[in-house]
Amino acid sequence: MAQIIKGRTGEWEIVIGMEVHAQVTANTKLFSGASAVFGAEPNSQVSMVDAAMPGMLPTLNAYCVEQAVRTGLGLNAEIHATSVFERKNYFYPDLPQGYQISQYLHPIVGKGKIEIDLPQGDVKEIGITRLHLEQDAGKSLHDQHPTKSFVDLNRSGCALMEIVSEPDLRGAEEAAAYLSKLRMILRYLGTCDGNMEEGSMRADVNVSVRKPGGALGTRCEIKNVNSVKAVQMAIDYESRRQVDIIEDGGTIHQETRLWDPTKGETRSMRSKEDAHDYRYFPDPDLLPLVLDNAWIASIKQTLPELPDQKKHRFMQDYGLGAYDSGVLIAERIRADFFESVAKGRDAKMAANWVLNELLGVLNKDGKNLDQSPITAAQLGGLIDLIVDNTISGKIAKDVFADMYATSKDAAKIVDEKGLKQVTDIGAIEKTVDQVIAANPDNVAAYRGGKDKLFGFFVGQVMKETGGKANPEIVNQLLKDKLK
Ligand code: ADP
Ligand code: MG
Repeated sequence: MAQIIKGRTGEWEIVIGMEVHAQVTANTKLFSGASAVFGAEPNSQVSMVDAAMPGMLPTLNAYCVEQAVRTGLGLNAEIHATSVFERKNYFYPDLPQGYQISQYLHPIVGKGKIEIDLPQGDVKEIGITRLHLEQDAGKSLHDQHPTKSFVDLNRSGCALMEIVSEPDLRGAEEAAAYLSKLRMILRYLGTCDGNMEEGSMRADVNVSVRKPGGALGTRCEIKNVNSVKAVQMAIDYESRRQVDIIEDGGTIHQETRLWDPTKGETRSMRSKEDAHDYRYFPDPDLLPLVLDNAWIASIKQTLPELPDQKKHRFMQDYGLGAYDSGVLIAERIRADFFESVAKGRDAKMAANWVLNELLGVLNKDGKNLDQSPITAAQLGGLIDLIVDNTISGKIAKDVFADMYATSKDAAKIVDEKGLKQVTDIGAIEKTVDQVIAANPDNVAAYRGGKDKLFGFFVGQVMKETGGKANPEIVNQLLKDKLK
């Protein structure tokens, strides 16, 4: 569903292509053995290679290459048997080499595609242009000292995958769906943790506007946006800004802009560099990277079931709707949790208890599923008690609340609190007779046509039995006796 901007001169369409930098999940850096783990003391994870000491030579980390291939396969993309590392030259205090080793003309991964999920269950295919491997730069810290800037090189040399999309996205919502889906796939694959707050996934958002169906407009690139929400806000602001300029008779100049989250606006950073400004050339310290087809095939064999496949399987095998399936597969541990609850049980019941009850309370408490006080086996145990009529669905909700508070098994709680459902017809009949005898006016009114009073009788019997009477038996007995 394309997002349209209404301007003075009519409607405008927003066109977006994204470049996502995803830090490879790996213990060490792309060309050195220094640790790549996040959060260490500044400059404590810097090898001579990362600090670009004279005479140091890069050594390619095979695991990072494997991760890039795995990601390419997960993005349904072609893997290039030969790729080439090139030097991208620019000067910046946090780049001690004076160039970034990247891939340019020959990236490791070529064209691919992913599906994004839009509201109302719609699906749209988004083209992936390429994925290449490159080094991350260090980090400049400008807020530590009144007159000095510091440089932390821990990140210098960490492996990044730059994943470039085609300009297929049509607005903030689609861009958000794309980022979420890409992050989900990376997490399923285990190739990037997708933590945007820690900077391990960052998006450059290219935005242009055009008259619907017209030629592509000139784009501006908004650099390093670090949350899905910020991406959406930046797109809304930037597209409107461009429409206003064009409608006022101006032109858009291709440039690099910055998203300012406090002011809620984008700001010009610099005019856009062209590729030739970087003086790309093949890095003479590194051989072309040549991959063995059998090795690529062996990685393909180890790919996990990916989100879309899992979603379709949930719809097929469990008879769940697209929306419920989508929520269940959003995280791998959530999908696994559901599947172990559903195993050998009614899948819809399992989905209902996981989605509406468990995720509901966890969400309210700001907790993740891995912090759940109730295990999948325990939730399954609760469902079993409902199915074999030990407790009613209503009592089950109370038991569930107890389980959540105490982490006890459902059967234990039912035992301790004496919540076992009463299915003894004789006992229930006695209560039904009492309730009928105690409410002669309502009985007369019901028999006179006030059908709605049936609920009142059910409520009374339930009250008398502490909610433990089997609801079907109660209903049947009341129907017979009130006729
Ligand atoms: P660069 O590396 O110089 O930023 P690329 O050719 O790699 O240039 O393209 C970067 C991104 O810009 C891609 O994601 C692409 O889809 C997107 N893009 C290209 N043209 C447009 C456009 N007219 N409007 C919006 N996005 C665009
Ligand atoms: Mg770019």
